[in-house]
Amino acid sequence: MLPDRCSVMKEGKQCVNPPEFIVSIVDDKDEYMVGVTCGRHKQIVSGKVGFLQNEGKIHAGKINFSLVKTVGTACAHGDADDFIQIDLK
Ligand SMILES: [Zn+2]
Repeated sequence: MLPDRCSVMKEGKQCVNPPEFIVSIVDDKDEYMVGVTCGRHKQIVSGKVGFLQNEGKIHAGKINFSLVKTVGTACAHGDADDFIQIDLK
């Protein structure tokens, strides 16, 4: 199950836009979903994922954005509970 909102939070409020992209990390053997984002927050999410990777908080690998419509969720690993929340203060 995917969340029905973008993963970005601003000043304590969840972004109300529906997710347009699934954010995943691709390494040699697997793909891990880490979140969802609307088109407007794609750059911010990309930066945040890079930051979390540097900190060792999430998988290393290439960041990939897939249109929500075109992704069969069965082929990627991930649990919505593990998705990152991006808090813009
Ligand atoms: Zn958003």
